[in-house]
Amino acid sequence: MKIGGIQKTSLIDYPDRVCAVFFASGCNFRCPYCYNPEIVFNKTKLIQEKYIKSFLKKRKNYLDAILLSGGEITIQPDFVDFVKKIKSYGYLIGIETNGSNPDAIKELIDNKLIDFIAMDIKSDLETYEKAAGVKPDKEKIKKSVELIKNSNINYEFRTTIVPELFDEETAIKIGKWLKKSKRYVLQQFRNEKEMIDKSFKGKKPYSVDKLKKFKKILEPYIEDVKITGI
Ligand code: SF4
Repeated sequence: MKIGGIQKTSLIDYPDRVCAVFFASGCNFRCPYCYNPEIVFNKTKLIQEKYIKSFLKKRKNYLDAILLSGGEITIQPDFVDFVKKIKSYGYLIGIETNGSNPDAIKELIDNKLIDFIAMDIKSDLETYEKAAGVKPDKEKIKKSVELIKNSNINYEFRTTIVPELFDEETAIKIGKWLKKSKRYVLQQFRNEKEMIDKSFKGKKPYSVDKLKKFKKILEPYIEDVKITGI
């Protein structure tokens, strides 16, 4: 497994639990607003397997969960085995994914290896390419959404709300697509870091009132709509 970074403790990344976050190195998307380019382009030093093992062993009494983030963790060939190994220590497991690998998601769900999934919804299906920075296989994205929606595990769909990539129309289309989902999170765009597309640094995010407007648009479609990062 290529793990390019570990956040040793987080109180906010796994719902209601204390977790550590593992950042997988590499990603198959190139979202222009991504603020983890070092990880996406494999520029961080990889964490040794020996260190990961001893970390999992030592931290068991302090952490409830391990959140596997990235980059995109599901594209790594030994991903499912890695999840099995972490699970054997007794941790809850969460993943953050762009949904491009529904087969890996299915394997985790079918084998009860996963306790929480957060899937990024880059945009509505018509404009997905622009927000993902690549041409993803949209059938796979749709399949991941259906697998997650129809599973019994705790999940949420999330979108980073970048003014250049999201408006009322996008909100309506996403609402219709994700209809009857349990939770959808509107994440405020942060403009202070270096991003994949350097021109996005410093771009003005939407106002809180505007985010609340999007929330109202989405509420008729989705049970629980939240705004984070404000
Ligand atoms: S934001 Fe986009 S490019 Fe960055 S890690 Fe997530 S999917 Fe990959």
